[in-house]
Amino acid sequence: MTTPLVSSDAGALLGVYARVGPHFVAGEGSQLIAEDGTRYLDFVAGIAVNALGYNSPVFRDAVMRALEAGLVHVSNLYRTEPGERLAVELTSRAFHSGGQAFFCNSGAEANEGAFKFARKWSGKSEIVAFSGSFHGRLFASLAATDRPDYRRPFEPLLPGVQIVPLGDTEAAGRAITPERTAAVIIEPVQGEGGVRPIATDFLTFLRELCDACGAALIFDEVQCGLGRTGTLFAAERSGVVPDIYTLAKPLGGGLPMGAILVNDRVAAAMAPGDHATTFGGGPFVATVALDVLRTVAEPDFLADVRANGEWLGGRLNALASRSPRVSEARGCGLMWGLELNEVAAPIVAAARERHLLVLTAGPTVIRIVPPLNITREDLERGTAILEDLLA
Ligand SMILES: *Cc1c(COP(=O)(O)O)cnc(C)c1O
Repeated sequence: MTTPLVSSDAGALLGVYARVGPHFVAGEGSQLIAEDGTRYLDFVAGIAVNALGYNSPVFRDAVMRALEAGLVHVSNLYRTEPGERLAVELTSRAFHSGGQAFFCNSGAEANEGAFKFARKWSGKSEIVAFSGSFHGRLFASLAATDRPDYRRPFEPLLPGVQIVPLGDTEAAGRAITPERTAAVIIEPVQGEGGVRPIATDFLTFLRELCDACGAALIFDEVQCGLGRTGTLFAAERSGVVPDIYTLAKPLGGGLPMGAILVNDRVAAAMAPGDHATTFGGGPFVATVALDVLRTVAEPDFLADVRANGEWLGGRLNALASRSPRVSEARGCGLMWGLELNEVAAPIVAAARERHLLVLTAGPTVIRIVPPLNITREDLERGTAILEDLLA
């Protein structure tokens, strides 16, 4: 029927990824299964996408129901039910009252849209972001991303975007001005930048400064949102509510989907024609996302994420205090980083040899973002492998 893949077949894919390891052919729960039948314990979860793991009944049922409805896509010219319901359920959980949602197809797209909305609402143009940030790979989101290697070949990026030292209130106070600043964007827990939970004081400071300056505060919860940290929105633990949330990775249960949630003030500035996407929020993805959202928003589900996260954090902190190779463990919920005193990539490769998948977050950090419904046994098994490798 089909011929087996040979190594040169990878050459037909654009060479922008340094792909490694086995061909994965199936998945089940928190495990990925390779061509030769080997099972890998997955602490990567498609880069914080597969919140419900692989082949989850919730995802399968939603997909089957969405297919049976006979509608995958009808365009945003017409009303469909799933997207409207999803918008209600997301905004009612995001804001104390009101709010509206715009659906798109990825995290970068969500941030690009958020910047447009902030400009339209504020009548200003500048954007302030922070060191260590990652907001995507398009021209505006890349301009707000603090990765010189990703940026340099593609300059000039969007002008008027400043990157300020994270946590530096004086520098932020100078950069954020009533005359020019349209938006301030921050990840409440930085992901790619090394897994760094942001102090509540700093988020509160930004909220007050944005209010004083008429700038939109954007929380990029593409990675840390939707249950990852043990609350539905990562910023909940701080009590700070942004003007705009951006979401993506886990929202579609593995299908591409992003969302921009805006409060009523920002929503009021937007009119027909101001923004659009062909695919965003179609009935198929929205049906699946609604079931993903309802699952991860369940209080019992979130309580399990917190309990497993506390357990995992305890083990990783203990590892950091006894191993001279680990300087610090940072994180919350099921989003953790181990800061090493050495380069992280060889440890990631060694873990893969032991059939455990983990990823990096910058050169010296091992990142752990397993499915949110991972069992304690699987968490224990993977943690023991990491402990062994870093002893
Ligand atoms: C992954 C990520 C993005 C970009 O999402 P894409 O879907 O890859 O465009 C943006 N912000 C954060 C915090 C992310 O982790």
